[in-house]
Amino acid sequence: MSNTTGETMSKLKLKPGILTGNAVNEVFAYCKEAECALPAVNVIGSHSINAALTAAREAKSPVIIQFSHSGGQFTAGKFIDNSNHLASISGAIAGALFARAMAPVYGVPVILHTDHAAKKLLPWIDGLLAANQDYFSKNNEPLFSSHMLDLSEEPLAENLEISARYLEKLNKLGMLLEIELGVTGGEEDGVDNTDIDNSKLYTQPSEVLAAYDALNSVGSFTVAASFGNTHGVYKPGNVKLTPVILKNSQEEIQKQRSTSAKPVNFVFHGGSGSSPAEIKEAVSYGVIKMNIDTDTQWAFTHPIRKYMEDKKDYLQSQIGNPEGDDKPNKKYIDPRSWVHLGEKGMSERLVSAFKDLNAYQKFDF
Ligand SMILES: [Zn+2]
Repeated sequence: MSNTTGETMSKLKLKPGILTGNAVNEVFAYCKEAECALPAVNVIGSHSINAALTAAREAKSPVIIQFSHSGGQFTAGKFIDNSNHLASISGAIAGALFARAMAPVYGVPVILHTDHAAKKLLPWIDGLLAANQDYFSKNNEPLFSSHMLDLSEEPLAENLEISARYLEKLNKLGMLLEIELGVTGGEEDGVDNTDIDNSKLYTQPSEVLAAYDALNSVGSFTVAASFGNTHGVYKPGNVKLTPVILKNSQEEIQKQRSTSAKPVNFVFHGGSGSSPAEIKEAVSYGVIKMNIDTDTQWAFTHPIRKYMEDKKDYLQSQIGNPEGDDKPNKKYIDPRSWVHLGEKGMSERLVSAFKDLNAYQKFDF
């Protein structure tokens, strides 16, 4: 195998199961060198976790499984009051334990992560931190591999001060922190940034440098920078994707702090709807993780819609279909008949994400 500069690289050898601590750093360093990135899949329960695991098995690559605040809540069930984040905390924990149980069965390495936590969601992260500490005391490793804080709505100094404080706690458990600089456009999980001032959609290299200075001595971190990316898929509008912001930021830090090339691990939020060329360019500038949600939501829902249309006449009652008034419809009604179609659709979409991200068949396990 060779990277884009033509050097030969051997495939990174990994063990199936949840990766934590230095194993995660090694995966990201390898990704940067090989110019590939891992898809980070937003999951909402066992069906989407299994879709992610089977896609990783086919792609022969680790996968990042992540719970958003509402994804954790949905995993717990929307029946539980979530005003104190109980459902979001317990659902993410239950989902993480499910992924821990199944990753070795599927035979794939997995990075367990959580998505956006704005300032008002810090109690959610505090609850997960307690779970990580508890898990660590029993198993000598954290439950999750990493968490994300998204304090991009706060002033930069406050964003970095709180982020550094949390990274200190995470680092003690061998965990990484993802932060966000600038604002990802679009709408996701009830946060609507569709009308935000355009200048905020582009992170400045000086901001990435400030983050590097605040966090590099504290622990391992990744940066979600804004380069015109949006959550959700929209018709092309006046926001232009400019991955060169990432390149400029890497070069600024390298110059100012005399680091090696590409000192920062970048995360691409709002990857859905991006062209393979845009993804390739961003990855070449040090993106090692790309979030994918809207495209996999569509991939899950679309085959189920088709099933409901195709089997319409078998889904009107428990007995009676075009083959006879007394014919039973049990096998058509059984949710397993159509939920699995959603799982398959999602997994197929993820396999193409691994290919777009140049991670397909790049690992050995
Ligand atoms: Zn995001």
